[in-house]
Amino acid sequence: MLDYIRQMVSYNQRWQPMGPMDNMNIELNQRVRLRKAHPCGGFEWRVVRLGADIGLECDTCGRRVLLTRRELAKRIQLVLDVGPTT
Ligand SMILES: [Zn+2]
Repeated sequence: MLDYIRQMVSYNQRWQPMGPMDNMNIELNQRVRLRKAHPCGGFEWRVVRLGADIGLECDTCGRRVLLTRRELAKRIQLVLDVGPTT
């Protein structure tokens, strides 16, 4: 039981710094800025795939990566404009 509580506490602490990103609302073609630069030097990515994993395309070099929602939430720094879909 104590272990269970300890787990819950550490779980909450892990997620606290995320704040508003908790209910991250990502849309297709949305551009996001990540905390860490891609090896090519780019910080900005475009969302190209939604699903269990989120597909991102590097704005600078065009390479695509797949991240889980949770991983993306951890790496994301800023959600930029949604693009021309409005
Ligand atoms: Zn890149």
